[in-house]
Amino acid sequence: MTFANFIRGQWSASRSGATFGDENPAIRGSSLAEFQSSTVDDVRDAVDAAAQAFPSWRRTPVTERKHHVQTFLTLLRDSREELSRIVTLENGKTIRESRAEVDSALVEGTHHVNQIEAFYEGSGPGAFSSKTWMQYEPVGVAGIISPWNFPMNVMCRKTLPALLTGNTVVFKPATFTPWSGVFMATLLEKAGLPPGVFNCVTGAGSTIGHALVTDPRVRAISFTGSTAVGKQIQQQAAENLTRTQLELGGKNALIVMEDADLAQAVDAAITAGFSNAGQWCTSTSRVLLHRPIARPFLERLVARCEKMTVGDGLSEATDMGPVAGPAQYRDVRAAIRQAEAAGARMVAGDPEPRAASPEPSGYFIRPTVFADVTPDMAIFREEIFGPVLAICEFDSIDEAIALGNRSMYGLSSAIFTTSHETARTYIDGIEAGLAHVNVHTGYKEPAMPFGGVKQSGAGLPENSETGLEFFVDRKAVYVR
Ligand code: NDP
Repeated sequence: MTFANFIRGQWSASRSGATFGDENPAIRGSSLAEFQSSTVDDVRDAVDAAAQAFPSWRRTPVTERKHHVQTFLTLLRDSREELSRIVTLENGKTIRESRAEVDSALVEGTHHVNQIEAFYEGSGPGAFSSKTWMQYEPVGVAGIISPWNFPMNVMCRKTLPALLTGNTVVFKPATFTPWSGVFMATLLEKAGLPPGVFNCVTGAGSTIGHALVTDPRVRAISFTGSTAVGKQIQQQAAENLTRTQLELGGKNALIVMEDADLAQAVDAAITAGFSNAGQWCTSTSRVLLHRPIARPFLERLVARCEKMTVGDGLSEATDMGPVAGPAQYRDVRAAIRQAEAAGARMVAGDPEPRAASPEPSGYFIRPTVFADVTPDMAIFREEIFGPVLAICEFDSIDEAIALGNRSMYGLSSAIFTTSHETARTYIDGIEAGLAHVNVHTGYKEPAMPFGGVKQSGAGLPENSETGLEFFVDRKAVYVR
């Protein structure tokens, strides 16, 4: 099966005439389907279509735009099982995690639909006086570049606010997970969007990303992915002063104090450390343990890791699927080898690659925990984006916060404690976009801003009000 690009309301092949395969990471060497290897000319076509559709879409009443998005959400709800299967097939995460991803997209999308009219109440004639007012206007064409770790949820979190606020969209899914992206395009088509309002182009970011980011008609780029590519995008976007919303990497710390409920803290480390095989930007990757409870915590953590079933995500019995593809597998294994060589002590995991399911050929890595990690080690500093936890010990809350902040990243964080005072000290001291008390690092709600500080992000955060604000300009109107 070969899937096409979606441009101007039509399904079309790339001008390159070339396609690429989509591997199921649970079955090395498999190909689920073929997708278009698009060129910069295809991107130009898509931007042409979006730019032509913009004048009419921006004038479409917000109630009508909202109606289209609501129809899309209904179709998404109806496709939950089919889409979850696609996400698991191409990303590897467990089917339960894929269902949770779809549910999260539904919750976030519904939040934006429910807030859109109130959002516009602060804008337009009458907002200040009959002679002066501030008017929200869509920015134009929005470029959406999404990653493979949440291939449909991240796309929705960016695309739906862009459409609700009257922008048109060119969307590029990740090469590891094009099918989820194209499936979303089919749902938006069915939702009856006018031709050109939403366009989807598949292909390598390194080939077509630049064309999308630097087209002067593209006025906003919303990107989730690595910090390295995020920096490139920000530099390229600066050429036309195109605004960017960058959601990037993390090295998120979970702090466990001696007064914590240890069972809950271990649960948090397992959930945020190993869901999606550790491939999420808000996953826990460093666990900082108050010295008096370090030993019992580790014993419980290792026991839980050993019980986890790693295998094909389609099986309901699987606790953790493979990592998303060969590059991830190679990088995570290299990070594990490097940690061992640096002197960290592996207390859970598998020193040698081992396929843990009856399908022996997937990119499986067992939940891995390293103790005796020191801040100078790469495993402490660098984002691994895999099922690997680095454990450090500390003697005081101030030391724990200093360790947590010893990172170029600042996305998420968590503390487990029963002391209000300690929690307050942590909340005020931690350098992170998300601070959780007795809640795991991956938790979020749609009404709250979602974004990082330091090198974890730039631009207005997603979700909350800012998810909409990113896609509008403010026009000051004076009338005499
Ligand atoms: P990338 O940052 O390379 O990819 C993310 C998205 O950006 C993909 O759609 C990708 O396309 C696209 N892209 C790549 N290069 C460019 C470019 N020059 N211009 C515009 N778009 C581009 O991440 P990787 O997939 O390579 O993963 C590498 C690492 O990035 C991970 O190990 C992890 O550390 C981090 N990452 C973080 C994520 C997060 O949620 N914060 C999500 C994904 C990755 P294509 O797939 O075609 O290359």
